[in-house]
Amino acid sequence: KKARELEAKDEPAVTTDGHRVTVVANIGGVDDAVQAGTMGAEGVGLLRSEFVFMGRATAPSEAEQADVYADCAKALRPGDPLVIRTLDVGGDKPLAYLPIPAEENPFLGIRGVRVGLEKPEVLRTQLRAILTAADAGAKLYVMFPMIATVADWRAAKAIYDQVRAESGVTAPVSVGIMMEVPSVAVMARQFAAEEGCDFFSVGTNDLTSYTLAMDRGHPKLASQVDPCNPAVLTLIGDAATALHDEGKWLGVCGGVASDPQAVPILVGLGVDELSCSIPAIPAVKAVVRSVSLDKCRELAAKAVTCSTPEEVRELVPVTED
Ligand code: PEP
Ligand code: MG
Repeated sequence: KKARELEAKDEPAVTTDGHRVTVVANIGGVDDAVQAGTMGAEGVGLLRSEFVFMGRATAPSEAEQADVYADCAKALRPGDPLVIRTLDVGGDKPLAYLPIPAEENPFLGIRGVRVGLEKPEVLRTQLRAILTAADAGAKLYVMFPMIATVADWRAAKAIYDQVRAESGVTAPVSVGIMMEVPSVAVMARQFAAEEGCDFFSVGTNDLTSYTLAMDRGHPKLASQVDPCNPAVLTLIGDAATALHDEGKWLGVCGGVASDPQAVPILVGLGVDELSCSIPAIPAVKAVVRSVSLDKCRELAAKAVTCSTPEEVRELVPVTED
């Protein structure tokens, strides 16, 4: 089975009835960008830019960041998407040189885009560096993590607009939102109607955690933090419907996009793009090719009526050959 999947890794992921799903990679840096291409990725759906910031004593300069982002863009085929997520630290990802005061509840505190809004110079520097990659070949997308309110989005977008205006970059760059706080999924219609908001990608790791109010790293609770929980799937499906009505697309870049059992359900819920861990890409593409969109929709419709994640998973038998 693995050998067959690998053989077809460069073929597109099209269902038996002709529905195309974009399959891209989650990456942490340039080496991953190169490797993603060799495993059949059609671009990058999530560059976790915090990897450029972690494991060092001082913040990377604008030039250092620009090199990484441009090298990632150059590693892709011209025109393939490169989604760069702005710095997502705080919560489980501390940075010594960017101290965030100790908090009672770091996962409900200054993390993700909130760090950039607290320290706008950090966000401005990063956005300037990202924009220098706009002409490097790939099609560039900027994505803000941990957006919770329309005010967050407007504040982040205003900083982006200012940096963009000053940059002189003319290449088109799309700007979008990570859907990882339930408020964004619930209010997908309002977010989608926001000026200049081009796309969304679901961070199911955090979305599941925040929907269930369970820490995804908690030793006693982690096993229950299943993105196939019908509550999470309902949020994704309803959001996809609202976004499509507004002409916006929805990806999934959380871990569930790499889960072959979940893939037909996500496609049936209306997810347009799956951003996977690099090794999972051939199998995810193979799953899409093995089903019809009609079947996926039927599974998704059943999944959102299930009562437990176990019931959802029983809908999709795992095949070994
Ligand atoms: C997520 O929350 O699903 C996600 C992709 O972001 P991270 O895992 O980096 O928090
Ligand atoms: Mg997240």
